[in-house]
Amino acid sequence: MAIDRLKYGQRLLKSLVDYPWIKVYSKYKVVETLIKNDKVIGCKIRKSDGKHVNIYANIVADCSGVIGIVRRNLNPKVTSKIPNKIQKHETIISYREIIKTKTKHQYQKQMRIEARDELPPPGYFWIFSKGIKTLNVGTGWLINDQNKHVNVKKSLIKLRKKFFPDAEVIDGAGDTLTGRLPLYSMVANGFIACGDAAALVNPISGEGHGPALLSAFYASIVIEKAIREQRSDERSLWEYNITIWNLYGYDGGLGVAVQKLLNAIPFSEFSFLFEKGIITQKDVDAIMDSYNAKIPVVGKALKLLQRPKMLIKVIKTLYLAERIKKLAQQYPEDPDYFAKWQKKIIRLEKKKI
Ligand SMILES: Cc1cc2nc3c(=O)[nH]c(=O)nc-3n(C[C@H](O)[C@H](O)[C@H](O)COP(=O)(O)OP(=O)(O)OC[C@H]3O[C@@H](n4cnc5c(N)ncnc54)[C@H](O)[C@@H]3O)c2cc1C
Repeated sequence: MAIDRLKYGQRLLKSLVDYPWIKVYSKYKVVETLIKNDKVIGCKIRKSDGKHVNIYANIVADCSGVIGIVRRNLNPKVTSKIPNKIQKHETIISYREIIKTKTKHQYQKQMRIEARDELPPPGYFWIFSKGIKTLNVGTGWLINDQNKHVNVKKSLIKLRKKFFPDAEVIDGAGDTLTGRLPLYSMVANGFIACGDAAALVNPISGEGHGPALLSAFYASIVIEKAIREQRSDERSLWEYNITIWNLYGYDGGLGVAVQKLLNAIPFSEFSFLFEKGIITQKDVDAIMDSYNAKIPVVGKALKLLQRPKMLIKVIKTLYLAERIKKLAQQYPEDPDYFAKWQKKIIRLEKKKI
């Protein structure tokens, strides 16, 4: 489904304005996280006139996107479970354009995400139909040593000219997204992270709006309960970690595994799987929904025997995603067991395909 990003944002804002106790300060910028002892107690704000003011809160929710402005200023006294910085190799660089074609385009009501030889692995190219003559096209890739110098905007322009030579560009924008598993923990004393600030973008599709909205919803439930119990400590917010890891652990795991696969074998090899009918759209849907991740390899392994290396890599990919999913569902109920769990998940993340 394609949404109008501006209207969507405005609708969310409007729904807040209905509550008389909510104040929206659209020109305020968070510049610092206020911490007292081992707890987040608010934020230092820069107003549009340049003056600073402190705003205090029982619980601060960081919804500032990939920048994670509150999260990045946490210190080890508050928590050692949350990283301040998202590493470069866990970041996707992306650029997209809204374009208008002269005549009715051939991708009506389609959303396509494709790997292409023109892009550095594990790059992907998307074509989302937004109307009879309008499309959202973009490209992106998880940054690694080989692709870090490739210009993402130029890469998209090249593809756009190839696929839509006559199109008019209405808008273009680029940014970074997180391309990793959700943060191992997203809560601390007086603190909770949602959306991109919690690294919830799907590493395969780059979808982040859904997780941002849903994580905020689940955060609100946990925050309300904690406030009613007059608490704001890490333990009172911990349920959020369990919910989010259950929801997005598999997506993240599959994403991490598929990125490794795309890095390990070139797209031309990968497309063999589809051309020979070893993997079909039905299989991809099954894998994405995780109701039977073994489908493509079990019944069709014989066809893949011509390429045993690939067979092993595909099996390893699905197996890794399943193992991450299993561990995601075993997220520790108690913060005291976190360190042991974290060790296991990091070990899985480091596995080679
Ligand atoms: C090129 C590109 C294309 C994408 N395409 C899609 C797509 O097709 N579908 C999809 O689902 N996702 C897409 N995404 C991802 C999606 O945009 C994000 O995952 C989503 O917007 C995350 O929502 P969020 O609320 O967590 O953060 P954001 O939408 O980034 O919102 C963060 C907000 O915090 C504000 N902020 C930042 N710093 C401060 C500060 N210091 N003080 C106060 N406020 C601050 C920002 O102004 C912003 O309003 C795309 C991303 C990119 C870069």
